[in-house]
Amino acid sequence: MVRLRFAPSPTGYLHVGGLRTALFCWLYARKNGGKFIFRLEDTDQKRIFEGAENQLTSMLEWSGIEIDEGPQYGGIHGPYRQSERLDIYAQYIRLLLDEGNAYRCFCTSERLEKLRNEQRKKGNTPRYDGFCRNLTKSEASRRAESGEDYVVRMKIPEVPETMVLNDLIRGIVSIETSQSEDQVIVKSDGFPTYHLAVVIDDYLMKITHVVRGEEWIPSFPKHLLLYRYFGWDPPQFAHLPLILNPDRSKLSKRQGDVAVEDFRNNGFLPESLVNFVAMLGWSPGEDKELFTLPELIREFSFERVNKSGAVFDQEKLNWMNQQYIQKLELDDLQQRLNPFINKTPYAGKDQKILRKIIKILQPRLVTLSEIRNRLSLFFENNPEASDPEVLKVLREENSKQVLANFIKQVESVEKLTKDNLGDLMKNVQNETKIKGKNLWMPLRYAITLDSEGPDLNLIVDLFGKERCLHLARSALKF
Ligand code: GLU
Repeated sequence: MVRLRFAPSPTGYLHVGGLRTALFCWLYARKNGGKFIFRLEDTDQKRIFEGAENQLTSMLEWSGIEIDEGPQYGGIHGPYRQSERLDIYAQYIRLLLDEGNAYRCFCTSERLEKLRNEQRKKGNTPRYDGFCRNLTKSEASRRAESGEDYVVRMKIPEVPETMVLNDLIRGIVSIETSQSEDQVIVKSDGFPTYHLAVVIDDYLMKITHVVRGEEWIPSFPKHLLLYRYFGWDPPQFAHLPLILNPDRSKLSKRQGDVAVEDFRNNGFLPESLVNFVAMLGWSPGEDKELFTLPELIREFSFERVNKSGAVFDQEKLNWMNQQYIQKLELDDLQQRLNPFINKTPYAGKDQKILRKIIKILQPRLVTLSEIRNRLSLFFENNPEASDPEVLKVLREENSKQVLANFIKQVESVEKLTKDNLGDLMKNVQNETKIKGKNLWMPLRYAITLDSEGPDLNLIVDLFGKERCLHLARSALKF
């Protein structure tokens, strides 16, 4: 059975890159009837961000990714927080020390600092020089027992070797062990570092496929060595391509909001965010862009993930979100909009009226949060026009003629609905000799106050004679 894990460190929010890793793991697990495991890699106690674990899991849940095993979900391979696995690591650390595959290092930070500076001065990459590598075991034990601070380092073979990885995305990747130094695997606070904990946990949790960002490629020789030292078969690996800004720089927090929570708060649907994120590096074999989760599960494979970086295209995400909003059932859309409406002055308005308004707005909404700026048109007596394009058009002489004539026409009829709007506008056209875009645009702008506003027929129907007259009169004054 395949078992894949998402193993974030609780150092911050769930980033779109993390969402993609989790999604690919989950899709692959679901496709193959396997399990998706959430493991918290919290061995770096200094970088823990309060509440991060809940943040991470709740954003996965919001995205529709179900966790089968994890800290709050149970499972027989726990505990799933690394900070609760120190006893387990201790056994393996002892084993590495006993078998001479790791050693205690007592070098002080001053010595290491000095070493690094000297190496840099000579133009070399700073790396540990193996000073404590040849301490006898009894000498090292004595110093440790006497209370001296130490870390544990793994041994990189003295005779350089080429480590080869058959990556599911990249194929064969080879790296020389000589590029790694004797990596610290246990810090002076007794916590293992990522490299040791990840290998032990992936093995003990029976992980079959390790999926992570390509920034971890340089680490695999160390990991493969640890698997060898323990006598374990390594899992399969898939290193995902970077996510890039349109200028091809690495997507990072500094360049705008990339936390999943921000996308949610900005009114993106989980369906569209997940669909969009799936396309960051993966592409289906066909010319299709919109995929539901079940479709993604069916189609997903690592073979179709690219090696090269994937550009994050916000316009594409906006387009997808609009597509998904258009497809929602009206009731569903209304429910999803309610939390956004509740943050406006129109919270508590009659749900039936809101429903009619939402129906009119649905084809145009790009994000749920846009509803905030769209409601004043329906509820304010004198809604304000802020769209510069609208103001420009309404200030034109031609527009004023159209609106004045429209007012005259509407005053002469009993009711204004979508059914007689066309005839009335024909009259306006005949009397003003203005037609086409120049005829309709002023009216549309006067009534919707928005250059990308909702369908004019629907809105005229909802507003009726008095409100349309009022809006047309107001527009004359702009
Ligand atoms: N804790 C690591 C991270 O947050 C996980 C890397 C891995 O999946 O092995 O990036």
